[in-house]
Amino acid sequence: MAELDAVVVGAGPNGLSAAVALAREGLSVLVLEASDTIGGGARTAELTLPGFRHDICSAIHPMAVISPFFRELKLDVDWIEPKFAIAHPLDDGTAAILERSLDATASRLGADAPEYKKLILPLVDAADVLFSEILRPIRIFTRHPLLLARFGIHALRSATAVARRFRTNEARALLAGCAAHSIVPLDQAATASFGIVFLATGHITGWPFAKSGSQAIADALAQLLRSFGGEIRTSTPVRSMRDIPASRVVLFDVTPRQLATIAGDALPRHFLRRLERFRYGPGIFKIDWALDAPIPWRAAECAGAATVHLGGTFEEIARHEAEIWRGRNTNPPFVLIAQQSLFDPTRAPVGKHTAWGYCHVPNGSIEDMTDIIERQVERFAPGFRDRILARHTMNTAQLQTHNANLIGGDIGGGANTLSQIITRPFLKLDPYATPNPRIFLASSSTPPSAGVHGMCGYLAAQSALRRFR
Ligand SMILES: Cc1cc2nc3c(=O)[nH]c(=O)nc-3n(C[C@H](O)[C@H](O)[C@H](O)COP(=O)(O)OP(=O)(O)OC[C@H]3O[C@@H](n4cnc5c(N)ncnc54)[C@H](O)[C@@H]3O)c2cc1C
Repeated sequence: MAELDAVVVGAGPNGLSAAVALAREGLSVLVLEASDTIGGGARTAELTLPGFRHDICSAIHPMAVISPFFRELKLDVDWIEPKFAIAHPLDDGTAAILERSLDATASRLGADAPEYKKLILPLVDAADVLFSEILRPIRIFTRHPLLLARFGIHALRSATAVARRFRTNEARALLAGCAAHSIVPLDQAATASFGIVFLATGHITGWPFAKSGSQAIADALAQLLRSFGGEIRTSTPVRSMRDIPASRVVLFDVTPRQLATIAGDALPRHFLRRLERFRYGPGIFKIDWALDAPIPWRAAECAGAATVHLGGTFEEIARHEAEIWRGRNTNPPFVLIAQQSLFDPTRAPVGKHTAWGYCHVPNGSIEDMTDIIERQVERFAPGFRDRILARHTMNTAQLQTHNANLIGGDIGGGANTLSQIITRPFLKLDPYATPNPRIFLASSSTPPSAGVHGMCGYLAAQSALRRFR
């Protein structure tokens, strides 16, 4: 076989994006995927009962819609935008609601309306420029220093510090639910960045998801890749460089620890030490439910959002994240719920429903959190358990078996500590390149980190293309 231009290891959203970005330049590209299906964290399957289609990993996709690369590709995906971006029920039977309209959201926040607008409006107003700057490695020299400085003043702070601006439980809870996507204690620096960016995406895209499941995103990327002449081989795990056909470059959609194992012989010792020092974050425990009827929320407005954050007040969520970071499970936990079937009839047989949920757990924990998670749903939706027809659960070990990139159940491709946010995977001018000019890292362990947006893969491909030139 003639030498290929590029081999990509891993057909996750970043691997596929890297492959598309190279193939559309006329290069010959082969993708090798360990699993028998493509998509990595963007796969959908009948996990519970026939006709119930569950997103195995990612479910909700504001970052896919915002992604400059996906927008350029005009991915063939039907996006469904629920009435509300996020619902966050509270114990008094009401819910904080993030709506597409910033004014409508602010007006629900009463006394906090002016502060909310002051914090979020500048990000929404500058959305195109801001997201093209933050969905890439941090640059010292930027064409938008004022905008980034204004963003950084809040983003680099802890969510706890930013929450002090608010007086209402509702505003503080919305911020906590979004900031907790960092899976880092909310009093740590830069956790506010997750909070304010995710709140802003609610006003820019809503929190949409792909019709018929996240698999549609992977399938659309694969279709594009094939249209440019690229090839994908599934059920082909790469264990060492010997498993890779002759090629000018190899892009790895894996995390640093896996890169060290696979390509150790081809990388210098000092670089391997850096790969091994890379820090992973907490894991998750995931449940998918087949339901006889929708989740019976006490706060009826929760049925207007595909994404529901369950954790009560800011303080309760902050306590949970702090305990997880210390290596201890908590009860009750912070639970993230997605209920796509309310808006997408392709997910379940007529009249039936699906729900997707997870809570954070310490890295590597194999504790069964089923009961604890379901009790947390019951707290805000009494009668939920009576509607369960079947469930499918995954602890951190089962997640890692499903996808080798989920080290100890870490869904973020690495811990979101301040240093790893700024210098991901480590301090380097080109975070995608390695000392071996043939080898590149393209996964969510590189900037701009986790999420289905393809930007890590796209930017890794740009780094590889510079080598070709
Ligand atoms: C439970 C869960 C929920 C999530 N929810 C969301 C969400 O709602 N929205 C969102 O935007 N993001 C979400 N994410 C995160 C998102 O899925 C990831 O950030 C994203 O998939 C990362 O893409 P990637 O291509 O870097 O890696 P992955 O998607 O992990 O893909 C890596 C691929 O490489 C393959 N691979 C690994 N090792 C090898 C090898 N040695 N040889 C060959 N192939 C290999 C794997 O099988 C896999 O297919 C979630 C993740 C999880 C796990």
